[in-house]
Amino acid sequence: MFAQPAAGLEGTERGSEAQALLRNCVHCGFCLPACPTYRITGNELDSPRGRIYLIKQLVEGAPASVTTRNHLDRCLTCRACERACPSGVEYGRLIDLGRELADERAPRTLPQRTLRRAYVELFSRPRLFTAALRAGQALRDWLPAGLRARIPPRTSLPPHAPSTRHARRVALLEGCVQPGLAPGINAAAARVLDHLGVSVDRVAGEQCCGALGHHLSHTERALEQARHNVDACCAALEGGAEAIVSSASACGLMVKDYGRLLAGDSAYAARARRVSATTRDVSEVIEPADLERAGLTRGTGPRVAWQAPCTLQHGQRIVGRVEALLEAAGYTLVPTRETTLCCGSAGTYSILQPELSGELRRRKLSALSMGAPDAIATANIGCLEHLRAVSPVPVWHWIELVADALDRQTERGGPFK
Ligand code: SF4
Ligand code: SF4
Repeated sequence: MFAQPAAGLEGTERGSEAQALLRNCVHCGFCLPACPTYRITGNELDSPRGRIYLIKQLVEGAPASVTTRNHLDRCLTCRACERACPSGVEYGRLIDLGRELADERAPRTLPQRTLRRAYVELFSRPRLFTAALRAGQALRDWLPAGLRARIPPRTSLPPHAPSTRHARRVALLEGCVQPGLAPGINAAAARVLDHLGVSVDRVAGEQCCGALGHHLSHTERALEQARHNVDACCAALEGGAEAIVSSASACGLMVKDYGRLLAGDSAYAARARRVSATTRDVSEVIEPADLERAGLTRGTGPRVAWQAPCTLQHGQRIVGRVEALLEAAGYTLVPTRETTLCCGSAGTYSILQPELSGELRRRKLSALSMGAPDAIATANIGCLEHLRAVSPVPVWHWIELVADALDRQTERGGPFK
């Protein structure tokens, strides 16, 4: 698709990038069936191809109408379209660019901007978020049903912190909302890695990865957080950590993108590339053979439906690893449908686009329930909480299930004991 950047964009880094990204799209439409919003609304402007056309208009100087903004806002940034595209269009970069241009041409109202900024700050400050969560949990029984469903009861799963120190060490990103919502996840990651002879350290001074701000067009705030984390992660690597590990696939994807996001910052570019190159999803530091060596056996254990977050399968392109690990840990994977479909969580999407998000969750849960699972496993805290709120069966992070299988050997046990 040819685009002629408007005056003001022409000749700039952003204009040239937009032109190069748009050029790859050949209008074939192969991406349309992969797009969750197109599948629900049937409107071409809610499809990747339609949105790319809107972004081309913005690049060429068109005003950002309410219609344009709505269709761009409805995109989940799930990137299912990228995997379906035979021309290699980097849609994720295009939608970020389109949203930036739309926000510049037609700034949102003050209340909208304030609300979005409040979401960025609330969800990216762990202490503030956990304090608000605990207050909500204390009042949970008296809240209206809709709000109550969004606030999970406080978890009673005891985290068993390993005390053994190993020569091999990794630095585990704690995340912002995960420690408050599900402290058992990182505790489970630490226990599993401990079984495999790897100690887990914190990334001292870690801040929010910046994904929330990045996707809500608070680009400067996101880059500030990225720079801060590059400093913190480099210190952890220099202190002996062999990798930066994330148990939240959305955060891991963002950190893996620091190298690109900070490429133009001469003070940070090289170190950001180093951090991105050494960042791993927790599923990338464990092999099925490790679990076999730890004494786990394949078998006919509890039936689990696997929900691959978009940030894991489309963003990080990690496909099949978690399934292999769950099977090696003795779980029985049940068949599901619509495996590439987004669950509708997508950061703040479930708050900002409740109707589309709710419909996607309904479809996803129906697809995950077809094999009558005992539990659903996922790899990202956002998807976990979004599904858990209405799921008829428990929803766990997969690392909790693997930790539980290991703990059952030592009689400690967790969800399936
Ligand atoms: S599949 Fe790729 S090339 Fe074809 S319309 Fe979609 S984005 Fe463009
Ligand atoms: S990122 Fe997801 S919702 Fe957005 S256009 Fe691509 S497939 Fe559709």
